[in-house]
Amino acid sequence: MNEIKTLNLSELKTELTALGQPGFRAKQVYTWLHRGVRSFDEMTDLPKSLRQTLAQNYLLTAPTMVRRQESKLDGTVKYLWQLWDGNCVETVLMRYHHGNTVCISSEVGCAMGCAFCASTIGGLVRRLSAGEMLDEVLFTEADSGLPISNIVLMGIGEPLDNYENVCRFLELVNSGEGMNIGMRHISLSTCGIVPRILELAESKLQLTLSVSLHAPDDETRSKIMPVNRRWPVDELLDACRTYYEKTGRRISFEYAMIRDVNDSPEAARLLLKKLRGLSAHVNLIPLNNVEESPLKPSERGTVLRFQRLLEEQGVACTVRRTLGSDIDASCGQLRRKNQQKTL
Ligand code: SAH
Repeated sequence: MNEIKTLNLSELKTELTALGQPGFRAKQVYTWLHRGVRSFDEMTDLPKSLRQTLAQNYLLTAPTMVRRQESKLDGTVKYLWQLWDGNCVETVLMRYHHGNTVCISSEVGCAMGCAFCASTIGGLVRRLSAGEMLDEVLFTEADSGLPISNIVLMGIGEPLDNYENVCRFLELVNSGEGMNIGMRHISLSTCGIVPRILELAESKLQLTLSVSLHAPDDETRSKIMPVNRRWPVDELLDACRTYYEKTGRRISFEYAMIRDVNDSPEAARLLLKKLRGLSAHVNLIPLNNVEESPLKPSERGTVLRFQRLLEEQGVACTVRRTLGSDIDASCGQLRRKNQQKTL
């Protein structure tokens, strides 16, 4: 069955016209869908017969909340949602002074195999539809009662491995008749799928691209990120240069600090060399412990030294604030725990 929330307004118009409905219905239905109703019966200003026809013809997705954990430290909320087929994904709501931000998952599991990441342990189960990604935003907003102003695609999954659905999700969430969230309020994080970065550059969307770099040399990066064997560091950074030239948007590089793996002064110096000519911002992330992984976080002092080395050479570098550290903050952990419980 077709997922109705995945349709954009003009597609919905075509479908409803085919069902013999007047022109104004599409906007009415679209508005309901983007308000996060759980059933067609909640669309109270539609004729009952139309509600029934819609229910017979379309799947209306609405995830069930399996768990909700709220941080006592900073109010961060982490949700575990169950999708219509029983699979689960995580969404995190973070409250920053610049607005309420949701971090959404784009896939159930992940195929990328990064050595430090909990999301990838069981591999990729399936990709999310555009409507399911939208649901994460809609139902987080509905549960929290907080208006969502920013979105980051940094949860479970590799967004550029689910490119078409992600682009459609961006269109939906950006639409004036929907949530109307501006592209400049959206960040997308990728492990470095070069052809898709180039494709995204052509689309000239004004979103913020984050690239998970995590090491400046191929030897280290290939060890911790298998994707590097396909698209090595220099190729990735060339794609980033193209992205910047085409879109004018500064790229943000994520760098998880892993003890004795990528945190030496030599690594910082090589990183500086590689980033030359790129208008970059580096975000150092203290590694989150993942039970299954032997990798450990760098010492605080090592992180600060690394940051200083970059800043001295004029590269903007921040250390990511840890939010929700009391509620399994790093992505994939809640889903993983839930899986283990049910195994
Ligand atoms: N697949 C995308 C987005 C999901 S992960 C990507 O790779 O960018 C979001 C960020 O969290 C990525 O930078 C990822 O490398 C990082 N990450 C994953 N596991 C982590 C951990 N245990 N500690 C710190 N950062 C981690």
